[in-house]
Amino acid sequence: MSHILPSSSATLVAPAARASGLTKTYGSGETRVTALDAVTVEFARGRFSAVMGPSGSGKSTLMHCMAGLDPVTSGSARIGDVELSSLNDRQLTGLRREKVGFVFQGFNLLPTLTALENIVLPLRLAGRKPEAEWLDAVVATVGLADRLTHRPAQLSGGQQQRVAVARALVSRPEIVFADEPTGNLDSRSGAEVLGFLRDSVRELGQTVVMVTHDPVAAAHTDRVVFLADGRVVDELHDPTADAVLDRMLAFDSPVRT
Ligand code: ADP
Ligand code: MG
Repeated sequence: MSHILPSSSATLVAPAARASGLTKTYGSGETRVTALDAVTVEFARGRFSAVMGPSGSGKSTLMHCMAGLDPVTSGSARIGDVELSSLNDRQLTGLRREKVGFVFQGFNLLPTLTALENIVLPLRLAGRKPEAEWLDAVVATVGLADRLTHRPAQLSGGQQQRVAVARALVSRPEIVFADEPTGNLDSRSGAEVLGFLRDSVRELGQTVVMVTHDPVAAAHTDRVVFLADGRVVDELHDPTADAVLDRMLAFDSPVRT
């Protein structure tokens, strides 16, 4: 247990998500790859966390396993107090729709639907109606009020990713996982999307976990968890861009043989 000492009383509440001894291997025999090696990590409710690490260190695998998009090989992944491996396929689909938001690097919007239709799609699939007030708050937070009838092709990359962020937030999920959400955006659009993710935490009380390579993006978060070779190797609280950069450079230099 790495943070049994709470930095605020909020930490005393059960975490929004937790991985415990989470191991994930792909393939078998000689081609077997251990993407995650007994990872234990918690993400506190109402916090904005970053996951960083070199390419291939297991960041996407961790997001996918914790979001229930990919089964774990051993160990456990929980959303709130729900152990994902205890769910059957139908229950897992339900949990993903209701309790988890996911933002991918390539926006994953449906081209034939308007921005608004894309945003409310997860709710429609779950047979739920959007709560008008929450929908308004989400749309206002991501700054899309005057773009709701546009289709993805009529929107810039930044606007499309804001639609994807709104879609991830609309069901009021327990947690939003965002895998390099600004990776395909120019720096201005990236900063906007980052600002909206942060506002969703500060103003809407969301819990967000974001994979990023960018120390400046990471500095917007409350905490950075560093992965290397499928393991958690360090973390920083209330990170500054300089501190994150120092830590990244330390990993890049060969400290072990
Ligand atoms: P990151 O997101 O940090 O770049 P990933 O989680 O994508 O890392 O990958 C971690 C390791 O798992 C890498 O060695 C990658 O090649 C491997 N990997 C990821 N997905 C698959 C897959 N579907 N099949 C086989 N190997 C995979
Ligand atoms: Mg990745």
